[in-house]
Amino acid sequence: MKSKPPAAAPTLPDAARRGREIEELYQRFSSAGRRRLRWRRLLWGVSWAAWLELLAGLKRTVDLLAAILLLAAFSPLLLAAGLLARVSGGGLARAPRLGRWACEFALYSFRFGPGTTGRLAARLRLGRLPVLFNILRGDLSLVGPRAVSPQEAGEAELLAWKRYNVRPGLVCLWWIRSRANIAYSSEAEVDLEYMETHSLRGDMGIALRAVPAILFGAGMATAPDRIRVLGIRIDNLTMREALDFLLARVRDPHAPPAQVCFLNADCANIACRDAAYLDVLESASLTLADGIGLKIAGKILARDIRQNVNGTDLFPRLCEALETHGGGLYLLGARPGVAEAVAQWIHTKYPGVRVCGCQHGYFTPAEEPEVVRRVAASGAGVLLVAFGAPRQEKWIQRHLAETGVRVALGVGGLFDFYSGRIPRAPQWMREMGLEWLFRFWQEPGRMWRRYFQGNLLFVFRVVKERLGYPPGPARGESLREA
Ligand code: UDP
Repeated sequence: MKSKPPAAAPTLPDAARRGREIEELYQRFSSAGRRRLRWRRLLWGVSWAAWLELLAGLKRTVDLLAAILLLAAFSPLLLAAGLLARVSGGGLARAPRLGRWACEFALYSFRFGPGTTGRLAARLRLGRLPVLFNILRGDLSLVGPRAVSPQEAGEAELLAWKRYNVRPGLVCLWWIRSRANIAYSSEAEVDLEYMETHSLRGDMGIALRAVPAILFGAGMATAPDRIRVLGIRIDNLTMREALDFLLARVRDPHAPPAQVCFLNADCANIACRDAAYLDVLESASLTLADGIGLKIAGKILARDIRQNVNGTDLFPRLCEALETHGGGLYLLGARPGVAEAVAQWIHTKYPGVRVCGCQHGYFTPAEEPEVVRRVAASGAGVLLVAFGAPRQEKWIQRHLAETGVRVALGVGGLFDFYSGRIPRAPQWMREMGLEWLFRFWQEPGRMWRRYFQGNLLFVFRVVKERLGYPPGPARGESLREA
């Protein structure tokens, strides 16, 4: 006779499930259990409400303290501004705004007259000072969504209603991102993000980030669509406009294939010494401004960069759009296995996007024709090439027609970020324009020349251009290039 096999010992999930079943039975049939369950639910609800109230209370305390301190510090300026407003023929203005629970309140500011003193005071932004009284009164917080006017609220998108659950703020996340040139989403979307993630610590971080935003940031400028920095043509587009261009090209089978380049300070330095690369940038369909370096250059040259349109931020938006509009991706470049990891990331986040193929970027010249053939055979509409600048841009120019893709983009280290091989700078660092510092911290040996020496050289060249010297390779530069 065969002996029965011994029963397998319960595994951990089995044991947990059985424990839950016993607990449920106990609660269903025992009045004590039911009471306990009711109490537990009540306590849970009360503790949540108490926690929210505590958070709101703490936030209010911080707001009050900050308003009192700022009022004390700025009281002479406030008095002077009030007097100036009076003398110049202006006064205290009250603009209707919507506060917490959409209750209307008057936002205070000084209005200055049209004279020279009035104009000077307005330029120095002294008119905003009375807003501290709004914080004192509890109309406003230091940090929160922007206080909208009743007219704007009517036009606001549906998802924006949640913003009224908190007091509006003097500083909002969307404003900080706009000042850092990275406000790619709509204001309502950023407000929603704020509402879902806000905490006292997060608010403190936003308040701190407001300082560099005030000092160095600038709102989206009304600059021309095309500008030149160091003689390099830049398509001064927003993220949305760049995406629209890409999608139009992907969808239009009759349009010529497009090459898209991203230009950061390091690329601009390379273009100053590499004429072939400069030619590629010149003939590309789009050359987009990437990073804080270009923004600073735009400021110095009085040719404002409208948005920081870098490949790493564009990539998920492109995937999202391709999910709806179709058009597969080919991932070419980076170390073996990295492109495949990015394909996995795409599969998880954007399952509707077709990854037509992956290929690492360490192939020999002899293997090149086969690589091009494989891209062409894949039927991909969009090709991302990650070999680093300027190799990727030159490669795309040489092979764009043969690959048969609609659009090809040189994306540098993008695959390393999305594969998880190299972590990307946290959002707060990007909002402060410090992504480069994070990159330096990760690979100081490789990056110090690029970021310290290279950035210095870039600013030096831009200042020279500002002073009227012709752009291009700088003669007699004391700094050697990275
Ligand atoms: N790379 C490559 N083939 C090469 C040299 C580099 O595929 O022959 C890859 C490298 O693995 C990295 C990317 O190119 O993923 C370049 O990254 P880097 O950070 O230098 O680019 P950046 O974004 O700074 O232009």
